[in-house]
Amino acid sequence: MPNHTYTIAEIAEILHYNFKLIDNQVIIEYLVIDSRSVLVPENSLFFALSSHRDGHEFIKDAYGKDIRNFVITEERYVAEYPDCNFIIVTDALIALQTLALHHRNQFNLKTIGITGSNGKTIVKEWLYQLLASDFNIVRSPKSYNSQIGVPLSVWQIDAENTLGIFEAGISAVNEMESLEKIIQPEIGILTNIGEAHAEGFQSKKEKLKEKLKLFENSELLIYSPEYITEISLKELPGKKHFSWSSKQGADLRIIAVEPIDGNCYLRAIYQDREIECMLPFKDKASIENGMICWATLLALGYTPEQADLRLEKLSHVSMRLELKNGINQCSVIDDSYSADISSLAIALDFLNQQNQHPKKTVILSELFETGRADEDLYGEIADLLKQKKVSRLIGIGSHITKFAKLFKFETQFFEDTSAFVDAFPGLQFSHETILVKGARRFEFARISKLLTQKIHDTVLEIDLNAMVGNLQFYRSKIKPGVKIMAMVKAFSYGSGSFEIANLLQFHKVDYLAVAYADEGIALRKAGITLPIMVMSPEESAFEAIIKHNLEPEIYSLEILNSFLNALSDYDFNYPIHIKIDSGMHRLGFDQAEMDNLSELLNANDKVKVQSIFSHLVASGEAEHDDFSARQIDKFNSIAKQLIEVLGYKPLLHIANTSGITRWPDAQMDMVRLGIGLYGFDSALLNNRGLKTTMVLKTTVTQVKILDAGETVGYSRKGVMPMGGKIATVKIGYADGYNRAFGNGVGKMLINGQLVPTIGSICMDMTMLDVSAIDLKPGDEAIVFNQEHSIMQLAKEINTIPYEILTNISQRVKRVYFYE
Ligand SMILES: *Cc1c(COP(=O)(O)O)cnc(C)c1O
Repeated sequence: MPNHTYTIAEIAEILHYNFKLIDNQVIIEYLVIDSRSVLVPENSLFFALSSHRDGHEFIKDAYGKDIRNFVITEERYVAEYPDCNFIIVTDALIALQTLALHHRNQFNLKTIGITGSNGKTIVKEWLYQLLASDFNIVRSPKSYNSQIGVPLSVWQIDAENTLGIFEAGISAVNEMESLEKIIQPEIGILTNIGEAHAEGFQSKKEKLKEKLKLFENSELLIYSPEYITEISLKELPGKKHFSWSSKQGADLRIIAVEPIDGNCYLRAIYQDREIECMLPFKDKASIENGMICWATLLALGYTPEQADLRLEKLSHVSMRLELKNGINQCSVIDDSYSADISSLAIALDFLNQQNQHPKKTVILSELFETGRADEDLYGEIADLLKQKKVSRLIGIGSHITKFAKLFKFETQFFEDTSAFVDAFPGLQFSHETILVKGARRFEFARISKLLTQKIHDTVLEIDLNAMVGNLQFYRSKIKPGVKIMAMVKAFSYGSGSFEIANLLQFHKVDYLAVAYADEGIALRKAGITLPIMVMSPEESAFEAIIKHNLEPEIYSLEILNSFLNALSDYDFNYPIHIKIDSGMHRLGFDQAEMDNLSELLNANDKVKVQSIFSHLVASGEAEHDDFSARQIDKFNSIAKQLIEVLGYKPLLHIANTSGITRWPDAQMDMVRLGIGLYGFDSALLNNRGLKTTMVLKTTVTQVKILDAGETVGYSRKGVMPMGGKIATVKIGYADGYNRAFGNGVGKMLINGQLVPTIGSICMDMTMLDVSAIDLKPGDEAIVFNQEHSIMQLAKEINTIPYEILTNISQRVKRVYFYE
């Protein structure tokens, strides 16, 4: 809780706008932008921000969660909620920024501002680790670096802080100015600027220049000349500069980078002498971020010896929550990276979003919040856990144990992590979702290891934030009122089942669709309550379909008749979906069958037509646009006839992913979003605007040196006339790595380099020609990620991304990440 607070009346004054206050003495401590994450409603101010959705739509939800203070732009809400405080502004985002700026100006603390394309959050977290012994630091939570994230970060500053470390990220021109004003960085750090020609900028140069605006008024700028090759030194902002590079002339000139075991040993010339440090990492990105931190410590006046001592103690930063399968059918959410109230709230939201088990357990270490009495802190945590419907708390640490009585539900407490580990064999964990959340020094990784199943070395990582980003992208493309049916057939295109459905339900899609009844039943058993359409309803599954409230696609008179039979013991308007064949010629009614269908539907009130739909065969392909247009016409005309007979209007839908953007007039009442959710859309050049959602990685098991003329694998397909070096990795065609990738067709990324397969793909293993690179057993091999994309893989073996994704076998463990 910040100790510098404002009354709502003071805030109204700061914002200089119209207001209507019922109680002008309410203290505002929390700024809320998402009605789903509310900590202390009495002291919260909700900003109705508009991005993909109009924030005003969520006022009702926020009100339901007891929020009574709002910043809005639409005055009519004032009358609707007469017991609330309202500040009425012309732009809610500007209001949020104005408030943050006012707050910032109350403090004269030292601040570090960080921008760049990559590494901002890591550098920020590492500087926090490096400087925490000398300063009382306030920093951006997670990667809060946007137009909204920066104000929220700066809002946390209070009188005790002596240093602020804030990151700023922009995605278009003219965005940095406002962030610069709010952060006011005395010291600037530029991280890796990235090669990518980012969307929102004309060129890399423009991107760089825009980012550098953060340092317009900085005293000191820490940078590498390698990041700023597009501009001249004269154009570099900041009164003083500190540079680092391997090139001559840098203040910190790196002369050697030597990996030793898991570490990296760095040497450099600084103030005319040779200095050194050890980083406890060996990957390229960490080494680069480590160099930035090294330069920063020196620029801040630390001696090389002090810097070395601190750098070697850096620890790994993982920004993401991980959702994995656990022992005894548990789901485990692993978040042992930080333990403060705001990240706890984020983790609890994610826990709350999980419906697969009614029982929810939190394993929590004690937290540290500066300037806060324990009683008050643990009281707030107890409220929060209750609000998020946690059923059991396992508290670890002596402080949290002292406040055991505040938690009025099932609890257990342990002095420390070792005591928990000792007691583990006697503890019960089964069929529940468990959040493991602890401060770093409690080493909760030991606990999550006990709770999770051993992860097989081949893992499909799914980035849930990216998926939400893709959903928002399509939300911004559909017309107001158009519903979204999310296609989660075939394990959500290979990415998972209830994990994805939970996310989509939480983000309020309207419908889900699966291929078979089994898939729908599994979702129901995992607590999914959204309506679910089943596209291939087998007759044998009708009973189960009805029992689980699934909605069948009806594509023929036969299937309709047998479904009506199955309904004979029931007497309700059971929802069904009528599929029209408008040209796909797969499933669906033809024009010729419409009379019989109408008759049957008319004579029967056991079913209610929830929707009428059809499918476009080539919505993404311009060469077939005429055909698509004919399909749409045909569908509209058949649907119209049917609606006349029915006497009511079901939902109409025809557009799949590519149809959404290419055929906006065919969005009708609903769209069926499939592959776009997972990051692909053939209607978008290079999937522009979409985010990569999946990474498939495996591990190197063995490395061998082969003599000239040796061969590799079955049938001696892989030949090495000159000899060379091969690596065996733990993925084969049984995992979904197609045999067509054999003999050099497929490539994987190891230590940042692409290496080709050699010989045939085996059932569980693949051999790679790694003659050109440095590696050792245990290294990671990336089958696909953002750089080495599924699109590329699909091209290599002449298929489509759909097939690559859905082929990944169920034995490949899925791990979900959520920020
Ligand atoms: C799979 C499927 C979709 C989704 O298609 P995408 O191209 O993945 O968006 C839509 N409608 C039907 C009937 C489908 O089977």
